Amino acid sequence: MKDNLIKSIEFLPVNISASNWSQNTCIVKVTDNAGRYGIGEADGSPSVIAAFADCETEHKWLSNLTESLIGRDPIEFDANWDLMYETTRWIGMRGFGMFAISGIDMALYDLAGKQHNLPAYKLLGGEFRDKITPYFTLYPDCASDSEPEVALKSYESLLKKARDKKVKAVKICIMQDAKMTKQQVVDYLKECRKMLGNDIDMMCDFLYRFTDWQECRWILDRIKDVDLFFAEAMLPHDDLEGHRKLSEAVSTRICGAEMATTRFECEQWLKYSGVSIIQPDYNRSGGLTELRRIMHMAEQYNVQVSPHQWKTGITAAACRHLHIANKFTTYVEYLHPDFYDGSLRKNLTTNEAPIIDGCLEKPEAPGLGIDINREFYKEITGKEF
Ligand code: MG
Repeated sequence: MKDNLIKSIEFLPVNISASNWSQNTCIVKVTDNAGRYGIGEADGSPSVIAAFADCETEHKWLSNLTESLIGRDPIEFDANWDLMYETTRWIGMRGFGMFAISGIDMALYDLAGKQHNLPAYKLLGGEFRDKITPYFTLYPDCASDSEPEVALKSYESLLKKARDKKVKAVKICIMQDAKMTKQQVVDYLKECRKMLGNDIDMMCDFLYRFTDWQECRWILDRIKDVDLFFAEAMLPHDDLEGHRKLSEAVSTRICGAEMATTRFECEQWLKYSGVSIIQPDYNRSGGLTELRRIMHMAEQYNVQVSPHQWKTGITAAACRHLHIANKFTTYVEYLHPDFYDGSLRKNLTTNEAPIIDGCLEKPEAPGLGIDINREFYKEITGKEF
C-alpha cells in the first residue's frame, strides 16, 4: 500500500447562516494512506453536496464520486478530474455534481502539495508573478432594496478604509432590489468615484439589473469620466448576444460568466460574448484543474480570467496560488476579512494573508498553505475536524 494514495474523501458541511453564501460551505477533506490530508470546499447547499458521498453506484456514468478516487494518486490532476467527470456524468455534468468535483479537485492540490513539499502554485503551472493584485468586493451594509442615498452613506466608510489601506482596486455594487432610474444609476456611480478618488481602480457589479443592452450602453456612455475598470453582470447571464452587442458598442470592459461551469460553457463566452473578462467560480466551475484549462483557452482569446470568489479562507488560499500561475489577468476578486466581517470567512482557516501595499504575497507553504481552525470548527459543528 503506497503512502501517497488516496484513502478517503469526506464532505463536511458547515452552515452558520444560509442567508449568505460565505457563511456556509461544504469542506472537502481528502486523506492519504499516511494520514496526511488536503482541504478544499464546494459551493451550493452544504447538505446537498454532502449527499454525493452517499450516492449509490448504478453504472459506469453514475458511480459514487468519493469511491472513484480511492487508491489513486492525488497529483494526477487531469486524469482524476476526467475520471470524476465520467463517473458522475448522469447526475453531475453541471450543477451540484460539478460543485462537488470542484471541492475535491481543490483538496487534491493541497494534499499533493503537502506530499511533495511544494506550494500549490507550482503544481498549477508555476510562477508568472511574485504577488497577486486583488480587487476587493465591497458590499454596503444595508438592505438589498435600500435607497441609493442609504447605500452611498454606507460606502463612505468602506471607501475611506480602501484608500487608507492603499488597495489598488475595489468593486462596488448597485443593490439588487433598489428601485433606481438609469439617471440615478449614473449619479450613484459618479458619487462612488468621487468618494474613492481617482487613484484606485473601480469596478461595478450591476447584479443583473438590466435586460436591454441599449439601456446599458446609455449608462456607460454617460459615465466615461468614472472610468470603470469593468462593468459586471449588466445583462442576464445567458444573454451572450446582448453581451456581445454591448461589448462592441462601448469602450468599458464588460465582464461576466460567474455562473459558467466547465471549460465547455466558458468556451461559449469566449467565442460569442465579446467580454474582456470571465469569472467562472472556484467552487462551482470545476475547481483548479478546470480553471487552469479555462485560463489557457482564454489566453487565446485575449480574455482575462478573474474567478468569482465569495466563500471562506480555503478558497481565498486557492485564489492566491492560482493567480501566481495566471499570466494575463490584472486583478482578481478577493473576499478579505479586513473588508468583510462574516465569522466563517474570518475564523474558519489559519494563515490569513495580510494586505501589503494593496497586494497579497506569493504563498510558499506546501499545498494551499492553510489549515482549519480546529477550535472554531468544533464550536460551530460540535465535531472534531
Ligand atoms: Mg458578481
